[in-house]
Amino acid sequence: MSWYRDMATDCMVVQGDHVRAIGWLSDKHPFPAGDVPVEFLVRLKEFCRRWGHGVDALGWGMFRGRHRCELCGECVAGGNIGVPADDVLFAAPEMVAHYVETHRYAPPAEFVAAVLSAPLPGTPEYAEAVAAFREIELRKFGEL
Ligand SMILES: [Zn+2]
Repeated sequence: MSWYRDMATDCMVVQGDHVRAIGWLSDKHPFPAGDVPVEFLVRLKEFCRRWGHGVDALGWGMFRGRHRCELCGECVAGGNIGVPADDVLFAAPEMVAHYVETHRYAPPAEFVAAVLSAPLPGTPEYAEAVAAFREIELRKFGEL
């Protein structure tokens, strides 16, 4: 999987001033580690479980191919999640939950707060929260 710096405005699935990349880890780059609130990990796992609903609502293309965790070689995942926070969209690989749980990856506080407060993918509230971001993607691909 490609590496992107946390809070970068581009990553494999989405690019733009509104984008904040999170958790695109690699074994070639050090990353912050530490404790996170338990409720954050629980909710992050739920976001990852629902990633397919999220991709639909976000208007993201499907990215084929599954990736193996470079840090342990144990976990394989291929989805991506988007977490909205006002005019910013955090974009992370589905494997971000594994990074937090198994490798003690500590994402930026802004992302932790967003996961705790954003509606879950698959709900009308989520679709509403990401509607503006979806429009950006559809315009990019000439579908609007
Ligand atoms: Zn791993």
